[in-house]
Amino acid sequence: MTPSPHPSLYVAPSLDTALDALAERGAEGAPFAGGTWIMRAPIRHERLRPAYVGLGRIPELTRIEVGDSHVSIGAGVTHARLAEALADAPDLQVLAEAAGRSANPAVRRAATLGGNLCTSGFAAADLVPALLCLDAEVEIRSREGTERLALKEFLSIRQSLHPSLLLTRILVPRSPARSAHARLPLRKAGDYPTAIVSLAVTSDDDGRVAQARIAVGSVEAVARRWTRLEAALAGAPLDAGTAHRLATELAGEFTGRDGVEAPGWYRVSVLPALVRRAVAALH
Ligand SMILES: Cc1cc2nc3c(=O)[nH]c(=O)nc-3n(C[C@H](O)[C@H](O)[C@H](O)COP(=O)(O)OP(=O)(O)OC[C@H]3O[C@@H](n4cnc5c(N)ncnc54)[C@H](O)[C@@H]3O)c2cc1C
Repeated sequence: MTPSPHPSLYVAPSLDTALDALAERGAEGAPFAGGTWIMRAPIRHERLRPAYVGLGRIPELTRIEVGDSHVSIGAGVTHARLAEALADAPDLQVLAEAAGRSANPAVRRAATLGGNLCTSGFAAADLVPALLCLDAEVEIRSREGTERLALKEFLSIRQSLHPSLLLTRILVPRSPARSAHARLPLRKAGDYPTAIVSLAVTSDDDGRVAQARIAVGSVEAVARRWTRLEAALAGAPLDAGTAHRLATELAGEFTGRDGVEAPGWYRVSVLPALVRRAVAALH
């Protein structure tokens, strides 16, 4: 496909002007956040949109509010800022690690949380499984109003979302859980991860799992919770060996996607080791 040679870029000064500009442009337009996915469209042999609406100057989108019951993160927050802001919260460690170890430092300074969640063609997104295991919700804005929905639901509809809608913020409930993010890049730092396991676990006084929330990314086209492993771990001792054994028994439910960097079977075969690594990191 021939890319459009000169797309236009309107940098919106506020959320309302961005929503108006997107509504005017309709299917010809799209939001432009960090641009790290959009700018690589020619490499993927995809067409650029004729018109983009830049989100980088909208103050609301760059806010992070860390409260006792919730964390609210603007969709325009970069991976680098997210990693820094959440570094000291044990329940949110999974998200801090996902943001702090994705891509490379230059990309982390530009790529945003909203861009990571809205890119439906990007199976290896680190922030998606991290937020799934944290039971995150997303807030979507249009000129007509604001809607909040579970991230899982958002992932199931994001491909068909109208281009005039904006993801504005992500809400993450706080919990007594400890959490960790394990990813396997194939060759070197900066590669997309072949497979990702994100987990958040609460344990009882005897060191047994009270509740486990586990999400798998990059193995299938869209990240998802591993609910059968969550159920198998409930009541089991919280140790890496037990988690590895149960993950080995259950990994067959995944159908890995074939890609240039790894075949599908390989992505599935590394899952038990990633589960082991993530559980070990909780200690
Ligand atoms: C070399 C390289 C390596 C990378 N490695 C990793 C990695 O290991 N892990 C990882 O997680 N990421 C990685 N990334 C980043 C990832 O691939 C995407 O480029 C990034 O998540 C996109 O974010 P962005 O802010 O740049 O989005 P943009 O490129 O600006 O936009 C991407 C898409 O999202 C839409 N969009 C953006 N914001 C919104 C919004 N608020 N509401 C509605 N739609 C919106 C845009 O219209 C567009 O369709 C890497 C990137 C590069 C270049």
